[in-house]
Amino acid sequence: MSHALIHPEYGYYSTRDPFGTTGDFTTAPEISQMFGEMLAAWLIDLWQQMDKTPLDIIEFGPGRGTLMADILRIACKVDDFTKTVKIHLIESSPLLREKQKLTLKKHTETINITWHEGLPQSKTPAILIGNEFLDALPIEQLMRDSKGWQKRVIINGPKGFEFAWQAAPKDLLSYLPQKTTSNSIYEIAPDRIKFINQCAEHLIANNGAALFIDYGHKKSHHGETLQAVKNHKYVNSIKDIGNADLTAHVDFDALIRTVCSRNVSRETLVTQRQFLLNLGIEHRAAALSKQKDVTKDLMRLIAPDQMGELFKVMCFHAGSGLKPAGFV
Ligand code: SAH
Repeated sequence: MSHALIHPEYGYYSTRDPFGTTGDFTTAPEISQMFGEMLAAWLIDLWQQMDKTPLDIIEFGPGRGTLMADILRIACKVDDFTKTVKIHLIESSPLLREKQKLTLKKHTETINITWHEGLPQSKTPAILIGNEFLDALPIEQLMRDSKGWQKRVIINGPKGFEFAWQAAPKDLLSYLPQKTTSNSIYEIAPDRIKFINQCAEHLIANNGAALFIDYGHKKSHHGETLQAVKNHKYVNSIKDIGNADLTAHVDFDALIRTVCSRNVSRETLVTQRQFLLNLGIEHRAAALSKQKDVTKDLMRLIAPDQMGELFKVMCFHAGSGLKPAGFV
């Protein structure tokens, strides 16, 4: 999965800009400016709760840079923001980095923006954000049959790549939920757990908060969600590797179990619908509708049968009594 997505020469993200109606898929920031504006309000509120401390805002997988551009359009109007805050973008694709530089060109004159391969070493309080980043981190599929736990692998067969099963290495079994049933596929994501642990460590050392928005489930359960998407359609995940987006639903339960084992506080997981409504997106939509019709965009973001319920918002934080907005 990680080769398919981020291999420097052949990886899906390294070789194209996949977003928008003419691309392969659309994300919330690409649907409407309202998404980034709500996140801007969320961020500013938190930064004010932190007494406007010098702050690193770190975004993972910024895509075209649209979310950060919408955040900065609002946040840069707030007193002291540009003087006190530094922006860090974590992006593996050189092509998308260039795109982000273009999108954010205007802001680079007023605020410090730098690009990195991974979480930067810093001793400054931080707010970490990621929209549709976790779903791009690789998963493993496991299944228990009469021979014990098996791991799904890809082999190069006579007709090209095919799936097969092999005995699972023991160290993967600790990622499974406590109760499992035989002959069902379980998806685990050691790389996501490692990533969330790194984020928790960064916050424990420096204070701050993390906010991750993605599609996935509230409770760990079995079932296959690995999917490949091209031109807004599902395609075979092992044909044409590197030319289709490859993702899997995020098991938020597993990530929350990780967070709970660390010395950080966490908010109850909410749906994107709840989060955006709690932050007042309907009021923003009403204001914008005086200039243009935003009803359809609003519905795409919050309607239960569109992104509203499938997408979840996860937040954890460390430091003195932060109360992030948008949660119940
Ligand atoms: N947040 C954006 C884009 C989501 S797509 C949006 O909502 O529109 C996933 C993004 O994560 C892309 O920018 C991709 O290049 C980047 N990405 C995927 N895997 C990565 C990794 N391991 N390290 C850094 N960036 C990664």
